[in-house]
This record gives sequence, C-alpha cells and structure tokens, in this order.
Amino acid sequence: MSPYDSDPADRLVTSSADGEDQAVEAALRPKLLEEFIGQERVREQLSLVLQAARKRGASPDHVLLSGPPGLGKTTLSMIIAAELNAPIRITSGPAIQHAGDLAAILSSLTEGEVLFLDEIHRMSRPAEEMLYMAMEDFRVDVIVGKGPGATAIPLELPPFTLVGATTRAGLLPPPLRDRFGFTGHMEFYAPAELERVVHRSAALLDVEIDPIGAAEIAGRSRGTPRIANRLLRRVRDYAQVRHDGVVTKEIAAQALRVYEVDERGLDRLDRAVLTALLKLFGGGPVGLSTLAVAVGEEAETVEEVAEPFLVREGLLARTPRGRIATAAAWQHMGLTPPIQPGAGRGPLPAQQELFGQGAAARPGAE
Ligand code: ADP
Repeated sequence: MSPYDSDPADRLVTSSADGEDQAVEAALRPKLLEEFIGQERVREQLSLVLQAARKRGASPDHVLLSGPPGLGKTTLSMIIAAELNAPIRITSGPAIQHAGDLAAILSSLTEGEVLFLDEIHRMSRPAEEMLYMAMEDFRVDVIVGKGPGATAIPLELPPFTLVGATTRAGLLPPPLRDRFGFTGHMEFYAPAELERVVHRSAALLDVEIDPIGAAEIAGRSRGTPRIANRLLRRVRDYAQVRHDGVVTKEIAAQALRVYEVDERGLDRLDRAVLTALLKLFGGGPVGLSTLAVAVGEEAETVEEVAEPFLVREGLLARTPRGRIATAAAWQHMGLTPPIQPGAGRGPLPAQQELFGQGAAARPGAE
C-alpha cells in the first residue's frame, strides 16, 4: 500500500479525494491545457504530443502521468480528451480485477476514445498482460472456456489512447512502462502557482479573496492543488459564518487555526508526532513503534500518513537507529533542543549522520 493510498480522507490536508472533493472538483477542474496552472514541462511536452497527433489526424501515443495524488493527473487526462475532441472513459486499476473486466471496457471503446486508467499499478496481473497487447496492437485475445479446451478468440479494437496515472511509476513493470510513448512526471506546485489555483477556484466559487489571503492558503497546501481547493472551501465557510465572507490573510489564518492546519500545512497528527519526538525523546533517535505509542496511533499511520510529508519538508529523518528531528523541526515547533549531558557542544551520534560528522551546531542551534 502506498503512503498516499492509506492517507485517511477525513484529514483536511489529505491529498486523496473525499466525497465532497469529488462533487466540487468537477466544477473546479481546468478544461483546457492553457487553463492548467504550473507543471510547465509536462504541459509543454503534452502540448507537442497533442498538436502532432492532431496534425496527423491520428490518436496520440499512450500517455503515463506519474506523481502524488491531487496534483492534476485526472484533470490532465480530461484535458487530453477535450483537446482531441474525443470522448473519455474513466476507470481505475483496482476496479479491474479480471482480464474479462478489461476486455469488456476495451471492446466497447469507440475510435479515438481516451481511456483513463487511474492507479494503473494496482491492476491485476492477467489484466495487465491483456493491456500490453491492446496498447501495442489494438487487439486482445479473449479466452473462452477453461483448461485444455480453452480457446483464444482474437478481438480487434479501435485505435484508442490510454492515459495511465500512477502515484508510483517505479512499481510499474517495465513492459507496461515501455508501452507508453510519453511519460509526464508531475511535481509538487510552487507557492506562487498554488496562489493562482486559489484565485482561480475562488472566482469559480464566487468567493472574494485578497492576494495575501490567497498566499496564506497556498502556503499551507503542501504543494497540492486538491488541498489548496479544500482549504479554500473551509476558509470560505469560516469567512461566511463569522465574518462578511471576504477572505483576507487574517481570516484565512484564523480559520485554519480552527481547523488545526499550521503555517506550513502540518495538521494535528503531524504536530503530535513532532511534539512527541522533540519533547519526549529529545529529538531522537527513537524507534517508530515507540513514537507511535507516544502519539496513540498505529505505527503504520505514523509511517504512512504523517512521515512522508515531514520527511519531504525536512523536519524529520529516518535513520537506521530511528527517527530524528532536524534543526528545522525544533525551530518550527518553537522549541530549544536540550543540551546532552557531557556533550553540550555536539550533536548525538545519530544526529551526526544527518548533520555531517563535522557538524559544529546542535540541531536548533542556528
Ligand atoms: P489527481 O488525479 O492527480 O489526484 P486531480 O486531477 O483530481 O488530481 O486534481 C485535484 C483537483 O485539483 C482538481 O479538482 C483540480 O480542480 C485541481 N487541480 C489540479 N491541478 C490543477 C492545476 N494545474 N490548475 C488548477 N487546478 C488544478
């Protein structure tokens, strides 16, 4: 299970979509490539692929989009279909458990249709093997019967474009990866790009927001448009219930304090993990299971839900001896690292791994 797959959707800062997201997202999705904010490289490359296909009057190569949830893979697949003026069929790896499920979908595609296969790394093996042939030769062998009497009936498919999305490109078997003519690697968004996302969504939701209010939300959105949109909706609620509906920096900060999302996008769980690591274990190293008991969570939750973002933010490090808080963590939580008895001037041995052998400064000493 990927860290992203297990991120519970009831967290405000989860990057996977909850029910409300799914309902609102349709309205907030950019419809054309030129409306899609950020991801300049992927956008330019994709634009060339699509223009070339349009010029040739043929379907473009199959496209693989990889990257964490909430960065716009589904949105891009819909844009691909819109730019090609083609219909789109949407399904996902876990929904295709048998090769027969895939055969049914493939055989009902129309010429030029875009097939979006989300979480393609979670498809069953037999379905994956059927997909190889479908991608390459636009043909599948449907097996009829069982055992020695089973026969393969070849079925011609109309040319289609597969858009696969995965949070983990590394998990795709090479034969599948190789059949994509173009792979777009989606990156986390820069704060300025997220500000544009917030402004755009605010306009669509008819929310009045000032530029610093948008920056405040963007800065807490973990580089992820889906989170930016969700935080905007919660801030809008707060602004409408407690104030006049206009989102300013102060209103955004107050609202997100109520929802326990801090200036850096850490939520209650992230902060509980850091607080335990710093206050109870002096910054570590401490084993994962001990840390999990200290915050009253399963080790798996700490490891898969809180840690990936803390590691990405450079607040926590995983070392062979356990979890360690970085200097930035002490600073972010407003705490001073303890002076080790007899050490005083140097980092703990495991902290040396992180700060370098010659590190003169203790974490947090800056
Ligand atoms: P993924 O498929 O990668 O999980 P989605 O395509 O569902 O992500 O995007 C989640 C939400 O974020 C969408 O509703 C969309 O409105 C918004 N979004 C994603 N990328 C962008 C972008 N580049 N510009 C504007 N909004 C975006």
